[in-house]
Amino acid sequence: MATGFCWHELFAWHDAGPQIGTDIEPTGAQDTPESKRRFRNLVEKSGLLDQLTRISPRPATDEEILRAHSAELLERIKTVDRVGGFLGRMAHIAAGGLDIVRLAAGAAIESTDAVLDGTVKNAYALVRPAGHHASRETSHGFCIVNNVAIAAEHALHARGLSRVAIVDWDVHWGNGTQSIFWRNPHVLAVSIHQNELLTTRGGYTSEIGEDEGEGTTLNIPLPPGSGHDAYVSAFKRVVLPALDRFRPDLIIVASGLDALSHDSYGRMNLHSGSYRALTTMMMEAAEKLCDGRLVMCHEGGYSPIVVPFGGLAILETMSGISTSVVDPFRESVASQTWQKVSDHQDQAIAEAEAVLTHIPRN
Ligand SMILES: [Zn+2]
Repeated sequence: MATGFCWHELFAWHDAGPQIGTDIEPTGAQDTPESKRRFRNLVEKSGLLDQLTRISPRPATDEEILRAHSAELLERIKTVDRVGGFLGRMAHIAAGGLDIVRLAAGAAIESTDAVLDGTVKNAYALVRPAGHHASRETSHGFCIVNNVAIAAEHALHARGLSRVAIVDWDVHWGNGTQSIFWRNPHVLAVSIHQNELLTTRGGYTSEIGEDEGEGTTLNIPLPPGSGHDAYVSAFKRVVLPALDRFRPDLIIVASGLDALSHDSYGRMNLHSGSYRALTTMMMEAAEKLCDGRLVMCHEGGYSPIVVPFGGLAILETMSGISTSVVDPFRESVASQTWQKVSDHQDQAIAEAEAVLTHIPRN
């Protein structure tokens, strides 16, 4: 069975708005289409695109969006959609942009359905705008609605699953996803991120969810500078044991590629081989726990140079198909001595490991 791939040209047409501040020559928002479009185009150039199953996105309905968001937020988006503008801090749509927002959320839903129906082995939804900073009430940080949360709610309510695990490896804390599922025992929301990169403070190991959802939020804040070995160690020591305890019916990865070195926001040091390793671990966990059911949904990643290689590495791994494309940036990052786990990185991983016991054992 092939790997599913969902992309639509309109994702590149989303207008993330003007930059913040007026004292410098305008360049527009840092969330440009380039990194995602070049990712998609490298998949075509490599020959892999022809070996993937195309998943066509469709617009998410009001009902689907409202499973993860308040009616007030959806009404506000519809109002701003008439003329375009900002919906929240660094969250902008152009006039008519709601159509693209619906299509991105619908891409996550369709990719989830394709995996649950067994028409594909696993799936990658390369969407824009991203979603993981959008909370139930608020659009934020290039995110208008939370695509991954909408897909998880769809899996629970429309497809009858009991438990969904979200693993967010975007370099920023998945604050919106965390808040949406804060009290929800059916969704394990894991976020591994650069500590305190997001200006909204939070994403600490002490945040574990509340009420019925106590134990189903898991944060792994890593120090800036963490590289391949720190991430692999954190996955082995924290993410995989968390998934083992929770036993999800489906794993959704919120796939930000801004933990790659060269990213304009993140200060982490991953390379394409790192995303290959993390993808392998997610596939093995899915195989062990939920018949291989794995959906990835794109989040951030702002380097048009290295994001395409990280994305291709993920898709090669998911599909089991190697291409002849060589990442010319991998070796220079992978060979650095600071890829080893430092003491303070090890300490951060140990702190996350210590809260594993809060996760309910299913
Ligand atoms: Zn990010």
